[in-house]
Amino acid sequence: MTTVTNTVTTAASTAPRTPIRPSPSPLRPSALLEDVAEAGSIKQNNRVYELKAAGADVITLSLGEAFFDIPMPSLEELGPEAHRYSHSLGVQLLRDKLAKHHEQTSGTPVDPDTEIMVTAGSKAALYMALVALVEPGDEVIVPEPMWVSYHDQVRLCRGVPVPVPWDGTVEDIAARITARTRAVIVNNPHNPTGRRMSAAELVRLHDLADAHGLALIADEVYSEFVPDDAPYPRIGTFDPGKEHTIVCNSMSKNFGISGWRIGYVIADGPLMRQLMKLQQHMLTCAPTILCHYLAENFETVLARTRPQIRRMVALRNRMADTFAARGVACLPGDSTFYLFPSIASSRLTSGEFADELLRRYRVSAVAGLAYGQSCDRFIRVSVGAEPEDRLLRGIHAICDLIDETRIDARAEADQR
Ligand code: PLP
Repeated sequence: MTTVTNTVTTAASTAPRTPIRPSPSPLRPSALLEDVAEAGSIKQNNRVYELKAAGADVITLSLGEAFFDIPMPSLEELGPEAHRYSHSLGVQLLRDKLAKHHEQTSGTPVDPDTEIMVTAGSKAALYMALVALVEPGDEVIVPEPMWVSYHDQVRLCRGVPVPVPWDGTVEDIAARITARTRAVIVNNPHNPTGRRMSAAELVRLHDLADAHGLALIADEVYSEFVPDDAPYPRIGTFDPGKEHTIVCNSMSKNFGISGWRIGYVIADGPLMRQLMKLQQHMLTCAPTILCHYLAENFETVLARTRPQIRRMVALRNRMADTFAARGVACLPGDSTFYLFPSIASSRLTSGEFADELLRRYRVSAVAGLAYGQSCDRFIRVSVGAEPEDRLLRGIHAICDLIDETRIDARAEADQR
C-alpha cells in the first residue's frame, strides 16, 4: 500500500502541470498598498540611475543626500560581536554615544538604556512610531510641503493623513484638530524648504498636544545642517519628560552615511518598549557591523563631517541667492541642503516641469507635487550631490525653463 502511494505521488509531481490562472490572482496586493504611490523623490532618482547607467550626463539636483568625504578606518579592528545580532535597542556603545550627542546638541537628557533605539534609518523609526500610535481611522496632521513618506506611512497604518497647505501656520494645524487626531508630524529643520521652527511655534504645538492629548512626532534628521549662529530650538526642550514627544533622527544626512541605514528614535520608556517589539518583529536590530564601526569611530566621523556640513549649508544659501538674482523665489529657510523654488510663473505643472528639465537640459529635480497637493507650483532642489559649477548650470537651467514656459510667454506667442 505504501509503495503504491509513493509511486503515484512521484508520478504526479513530475508530470507537467497545467497552470491555473485563478482570478483574482493569489498574489494581488492589498487595495491599500496598490493605492500607495512610489516615493516621488526616489522614483525620480531611479530614473537618474538608469539614465546614468546608459551613459547620460545628468546634473542631479534630485538626490536627498549630501556627499561627504568620510574616513574609513579598517573594519578588521572590530570583534566577533560585529557579525552577530545585537540587543534590539541597538549596540550599547552606539546608544551611549547617541544619547550623549543628543543631550549635548539639544539639551534634553536621554537614558541610553531605556529611551533610545537604533533603527535601520529614520524612515523605519518614523514608521514604527506611527504603527505604535495610530488606530485605523486616526488622523495625523502633516504640514505641507511634507517629506514624501509621511503621507503614505500614515496610510499604511490605516490612518488618515490631514495635510495643511504650504502657506499654513501653527494656527492652521490647530484648526485641523478633531476628536480623531492622534499626532502631528513636524520636520525641523525642514526638507524641502530648509526652514527652522521658532520657539514660539514649538511652544504652541506643545500646548496643543497637552490640550488635545496628541503625540508630536519630530523628525530632526537635518539637525546638524543649521547655520552656526542661527537659533535652533529643539522640540524636546519643551517636553523634557517626553510626555508626548517622539524624536526621530538619523546618521544618514548628519554623518553623510545614508547608505548605511542607521537612524534612531527617542521616546519615553513605556513607548520605547512597544517600539522595541516592532523592531524585534521587523528587523531584529539595525546592521550590527556598521553600528559597531560607527560607535568606535563616532567622534572621528563627526569631526570630519561637521566642517563639510558647514560648507554645505553656506553653499545652499549661495544657491538661494542665485535663484533670487534670477527672480525666482524660494520658500524661506536657511538650513539643510535643499531649496524649494517657486515655478508659479511657468505654465507647466511640477511633474511636467521636472520631466522637461530632465529631457531638455539633463537636469534632475523633484516635482513639488511629491510634497503635497498644495505644492504643484514648486520643485525641490538638492545642492548636496554636485560640485558648485554643475549646481549653477542646473539652477540656471531651471530659471531658463521657467522663462521659456512663462504663462505670459505663451500669451505673447498666441498673439503673434
Ligand atoms: N525624514 C526626512 C525629512 C528625510 O528627508 C529623510 C530622507 O530623505 C528621512 C526622514 C529618512 O532618512 P533615513 O531613513 O535615511 O534616515
